[in-house]
Amino acid sequence: MGWLTSEGRFAAVITCMDGRIQTRTIDQVMTRFGVRYVDNITATGAVQHLDGSVTPTGEGLLQSLTVSEQAHGTHQVAVVAHAGCAGNPVPDEKQREQLRNARVVVADRFPGMEVIALFFDPRMGFEKIG
Ligand SMILES: [Zn+2]
Repeated sequence: MGWLTSEGRFAAVITCMDGRIQTRTIDQVMTRFGVRYVDNITATGAVQHLDGSVTPTGEGLLQSLTVSEQAHGTHQVAVVAHAGCAGNPVPDEKQREQLRNARVVVADRFPGMEVIALFFDPRMGFEKIG
């Protein structure tokens, strides 16, 4: 059986590298998209690299998503930011704005992709903001 069977479907996540959020983020994306595997694309404070304009690190994140799309048939991706991000130490409201911008950037680059934005706060869980 190939990778595109219902038992083996992939989604992707673009998220921070923070170890506190990895397991919960992957579990959240698996549940939301009903997929078995999640390609975990990370950079420190990922959304700051996709905030309207794309930094070189952001281009690397998008390149990984291209590989996920082409190799694994991924057509759903979550962009994630989280409270208390050491690599992107700006207020939560600023991070939410960056997250919304990042969702638009990814959707523009990947027209066939379903792109959602999730903000994680350990007190509140995951909040879908776009
Ligand atoms: Zn972080």
